[in-house]
Amino acid sequence: MCHNNPKSTNLKQTTWWQRTIALLTCVSLGLGFVFPSEMLTSIISAAEEEILVCEIEEHIHSPDCYELICMDDSEEHEHSDECYELVCGMEEHEHSDECYEIISPDVTLNSLQFQPN
Ligand SMILES: [Zn+2]
Ligand SMILES: [Zn+2]
Ligand SMILES: [Zn+2]
Repeated sequence: MCHNNPKSTNLKQTTWWQRTIALLTCVSLGLGFVFPSEMLTSIISAAEEEILVCEIEEHIHSPDCYELICMDDSEEHEHSDECYELVCGMEEHEHSDECYEIISPDVTLNSLQFQPN
C-alpha cells in the first residue's frame, strides 16, 4: 500500500521532504493499525490476574481410564466403545473461563488515562 503512484514518475524531482512525509505516512499507518492496540492489550493482560476458583480436579479421560470388559475375542468382532468400561472414577473436566476469576485492578484504567495536571 506504500508503493508510489506510477504517474508521479512523470515528475522529474521528488524532494526529500516529500519522500520523508510519504514514508512517515506509511509508517504511521502501519503502526496505527498494529502498535497501540497490541500495546494496550499487553498492558491490560499484564495487570489482570487469573485466579483458579474451581475445586474440580482437571481430568481428561485417556486410554488408561478405560478397561476392556469384552469377552468376545472372535475375529468378526471389533471392539467398540461399549466394550470398554470407564475405570478412572473421575468426571472429565477441563478448566474453562468459568473456572477462573479475572481480577483487573482499577489502577490499570487510571494509569492509562494519565493526565499531566
Ligand atoms: Zn478418566
Ligand atoms: Zn468387544
Ligand atoms: Zn475447572
